[in-house]
Amino acid sequence: MDTVTRKSLLYRTGIGGTGAYAATHVVGCSHGCRFPCYAFLMMQRFGKVTTYEEWCRPRLVTNALQLAQKELPRLRDKARYVHLSFATDAFMYQHPEVIALTLQLMCLINSYDIPVHTLTKGVIPEEALQLSHHNQFGITLVSVDEDFRTRYEPGTAPYPERIAGLRRAHDLGFHCFVNIEPYPPPNIWQQDVLRVLEAVDFVDEIRLGQLNYNDTVKQYPGWRAFYRQTGVTARDWCAAQGIGYSGISAADVPRPHRKASDPGDLFSA
Ligand code: SF4
Repeated sequence: MDTVTRKSLLYRTGIGGTGAYAATHVVGCSHGCRFPCYAFLMMQRFGKVTTYEEWCRPRLVTNALQLAQKELPRLRDKARYVHLSFATDAFMYQHPEVIALTLQLMCLINSYDIPVHTLTKGVIPEEALQLSHHNQFGITLVSVDEDFRTRYEPGTAPYPERIAGLRRAHDLGFHCFVNIEPYPPPNIWQQDVLRVLEAVDFVDEIRLGQLNYNDTVKQYPGWRAFYRQTGVTARDWCAAQGIGYSGISAADVPRPHRKASDPGDLFSA
């Protein structure tokens, strides 16, 4: 596996409120999502990768632990948590070397009494569930249809495995969340959002987000109304289940394209 080195690792992120930090300890992601992947678009735009194939060959940041060791002491009283990661997958499916680095990083961050929040389309490993109980675990799940997965998220873990990993974290008492984002409109995939919601009815929080950076969305007549209605359905379902909900709501008028110009939530400084 190719590797890279970095000058810094941990950065403050605008997503997640005050005290939210993040790190990108791997460049690229073998999951190869074809929504497209916002991280890939940004990495390509800023010259960090050139092709989709290159993006799908992850490279470890070999000095990630040394950088974290250097940067963590000054974050002890500032960081509420560290998110792993906005620009790669912390538990990349069938990439034990990525998972091993993530686990080492989690141990190190936790040793400063800073919790870690992970988000994955892989499987949460058992070792991660032996660490601090202040850690939180999330999966991204936009469908439960395996045909959708093989077409749009070809390198990710099968949905049953992905959900089972999160359920295990829940059963052990961890705070668990699900990102249903980017949710596809019916001209990309016909499905009922309730099937996705019901598959993760054990979690603490659900966030729903629309698909961006894909012109096909706007080709669906009434795409705004579709997202508003989907948001209402998800919000009401979550309320009935006692699950926290955020994301699209009835009041939102979703934008088809957020300007893809700020790399701040993907890269360390
Ligand atoms: S899992 Fe996330 S980072 Fe990896 S390719 Fe998919 S969207 Fe991009």
